[in-house]
Amino acid sequence: MALYADLHRHLGGALHPRIIYKFLQRQDHPILHYFPDYDGFYNWFTRPCRTLEEFVKIHSLVEELQSVEHLPYFCVRLCRGAYTFENLQYMELRYNPYFRTNPKQPQDKRIGEMNGVVEVITTNVRPAEYPIVVKQILCLDRRLPREINEAILKVAEDNLGPVVGVDLAGPEINPENFEEWVELLGKARARGLKTTCHLAETGIENVYPEYFNVLDRIGHGIHIPLVKPEYLKQIAKKQITLEVCPTSYRQTGVLKDFQELRLVFQRCKQAGVAIAVCTDNPGRNPSPCTLPGEYERLIDHDVIDFKELKQIQNESFRSAFGFVGGAWTAI
Ligand SMILES: [Zn+2]
Repeated sequence: MALYADLHRHLGGALHPRIIYKFLQRQDHPILHYFPDYDGFYNWFTRPCRTLEEFVKIHSLVEELQSVEHLPYFCVRLCRGAYTFENLQYMELRYNPYFRTNPKQPQDKRIGEMNGVVEVITTNVRPAEYPIVVKQILCLDRRLPREINEAILKVAEDNLGPVVGVDLAGPEINPENFEEWVELLGKARARGLKTTCHLAETGIENVYPEYFNVLDRIGHGIHIPLVKPEYLKQIAKKQITLEVCPTSYRQTGVLKDFQELRLVFQRCKQAGVAIAVCTDNPGRNPSPCTLPGEYERLIDHDVIDFKELKQIQNESFRSAFGFVGGAWTAI
């Protein structure tokens, strides 16, 4: 049995729509008025969106459901699915702990709740029956004020071990604030955390070379080889890996066809930039969307050759934040 690693998966988009639907039924959630049957919900939940902003709106709805009390329900099920149906040996799960706190509370109270969120997730991503290794990446967010992002960084540092890194997520807004993000990511690195950042997913406007000094990986980054291939040399030199999530681009309206990824893979290969193939939000893609399915789609659309597959799969282990020198870091 082949065993795989997924380095880019969001807690808010990792769950199969049927698991979310069953949860909504248990809660007698008001959204079910719009979706009296599962098929209607499934079609809405997995439909391709025109823009990333539209896609993120549904993501926010799931984040609200994943409050501390309900996190065990979701965590156990996502480990079960990843281990059983995708043969995952290792997964880096990312999420924003602030968005899992009680939105009715004032900001300082919510900040105080974040550590508890991380602890609940740490406890529940180790189900005895499904021995997958799950490490956490905490997401800072471009929509949040600096003090909240700083607080997320602190929680990540306090939980080093189960938490292996930070990410900068949210829609690619306010590119002019890049100095603030670069500073925060640099701070994270100085505190022993690995770093990744959603960048060049929808366009090139957010990309500043200063990011390359503080990043271990780039979330997506596909517009760098497509639009600014001259940056690739620098990225290769810094040994930064791109996390490429094929189906995601169709769902967020970023690419129309998988074949557009050919140029991404070709140019990265030429420049010596490593790519790890990941799933992003597999629960939001039409079923079955699994990591092995993503590999198959890339071969099917002539993006990669079958001979390249093993090396690409190995790249995910080599670029993993919690897999150092051939061994897992302490949990
Ligand atoms: Zn993502």
